[in-house]
Amino acid sequence: MTGTVSLHPLIDNGVPQGSPGFNGGILVCECTDRPVKVRVDGDVAHNHACGCTKCWKPAGATFSIVAVVPHDKITVLENGDKLEVVDKSALIQRHACKGCGVHMYGPVERDHAFKGLDFVHPERFDTDGWAPPGFAAFVSSIIEAGTDPADMNAIRQRLSDLGLPPYDCLNPALMDVIATWSARKSGVLKS
Ligand SMILES: [Zn+2]
Ligand SMILES: [Zn+2]
Repeated sequence: MTGTVSLHPLIDNGVPQGSPGFNGGILVCECTDRPVKVRVDGDVAHNHACGCTKCWKPAGATFSIVAVVPHDKITVLENGDKLEVVDKSALIQRHACKGCGVHMYGPVERDHAFKGLDFVHPERFDTDGWAPPGFAAFVSSIIEAGTDPADMNAIRQRLSDLGLPPYDCLNPALMDVIATWSARKSGVLKS
């Protein structure tokens, strides 16, 4: 642990292992009454810890755990009437439960490299085994949410020790996806 800072309860004591056979599951919000349930078919991809100020995080956590799945793998099973979009102007249309605030899924519908993907929080699965986080994104942004800048070196070191290389935007693989999409769109890249 970095002093008293909790990165996220799920990773503070080590990153959980995934299981190769994980084939999807049901995301459940925090409500005890009429919880929202969303089925995800198949495993998540690009799972990571995120320090941005927009992602949903459990109480006390500094980072969220967030991953993507194709939009057609998402099915709202129960109590979808409790969902509302947090910020309709945002790239990610985060569908949050009005009861507990958990973001259940967030599609990207705008013209963008991530169009067709939904952002989900795998910790809300009712089963274990989903692909574990593999890096940390938007690490510097935790300062915007109140982290003492003096703690940053220790936090980055802790993330590295956990096997989550820290980046201040996305990781190189995803930054390359975005840049490739932009280069194709502008015509700079022909194939
Ligand atoms: Zn809820
Ligand atoms: Zn985020």
